[in-house]
Amino acid sequence: MVQPREQILQAFGGQVNMRIAFQFSRDEIKQFLGNVRANPVAFGAAGTDIPAIQALCQDIARLWAFDGTHYSDPSLRPEQHILRVLHPEWPREYISKFRLGRHLFKDVNFWSLPDLLGLVLNLLGPAPAGATRRNFFLPLIAMFGKWCQKLCVEYPPVVLQCTWTTGGNGEYFLGASMSGYNVDKVETGSWLAVLNRARFSVISTERFRLSGWSQAWSPSIRRRRRDGRPFGRCAETYPLRFLLRDTADKSAIHGLGLSARVLWSTHAYDDRLAGPIWEGTWNPCSNCMALIENMEGLVANFNRYNGRRGAPA
Ligand SMILES: [Zn+2]
Repeated sequence: MVQPREQILQAFGGQVNMRIAFQFSRDEIKQFLGNVRANPVAFGAAGTDIPAIQALCQDIARLWAFDGTHYSDPSLRPEQHILRVLHPEWPREYISKFRLGRHLFKDVNFWSLPDLLGLVLNLLGPAPAGATRRNFFLPLIAMFGKWCQKLCVEYPPVVLQCTWTTGGNGEYFLGASMSGYNVDKVETGSWLAVLNRARFSVISTERFRLSGWSQAWSPSIRRRRRDGRPFGRCAETYPLRFLLRDTADKSAIHGLGLSARVLWSTHAYDDRLAGPIWEGTWNPCSNCMALIENMEGLVANFNRYNGRRGAPA
């Protein structure tokens, strides 16, 4: 008997078959983003978002491998997919070689190629009517992860995540774990600390600081001490900031994470529950659970076992 395949919905204004887009080459992704930049509305964008989308496409093209002019700027070595400027006092002890560049969206800074790419795909929404984990969000996360792996050769993301609302407007938000950087200690000084601090600032609020957590004191650090991770490095960082934090109906906010590791060896989208993509789905870590609770979301809505029933075995 032939296995039934998932009926995956078309993305981005009905223009994109994600089974095909999952297999795009680096050049095909660049071509797609060029088409989006030329005509965002044809890919589902709102007219009011056209300037934001075009600015995003421009910065993504500066940062992608291998011909992004900013990525490979000889005055900003080592090569990386991060918007950055040279620190005027470099080289000097205890400082970072770079200061973070800026790409502001709704007053929040974005600087890394995977996050900029996620943001542009968010703006090519909304999700089509009837979108579920099985027929839209998991294929979208997987396609996003593949694209990150093609465009981003310096420290590509380890985890991808999508957060979405079932509250009616079809909004969703893709995020990647902290990635795209090269923080060689000798070559870049304290650059890693700059990036960690910036990621933390995306989710830090008065309410969060009053909860007793801080950048240096997270559930992961409490448990694993020196091996623990600070807040902000996870793929959930931007999605929770944009979709959960200020939403009135928090119970309508759901999410799913995916380990990027399983994507490296997967060349066609595999919709089987026993396949590597469903197997690679990911629950929120202890830091993200604390963050979701602090933002008054429902941790249970982010469980990797939700919404699997009926998927091809
Ligand atoms: Zn996490």
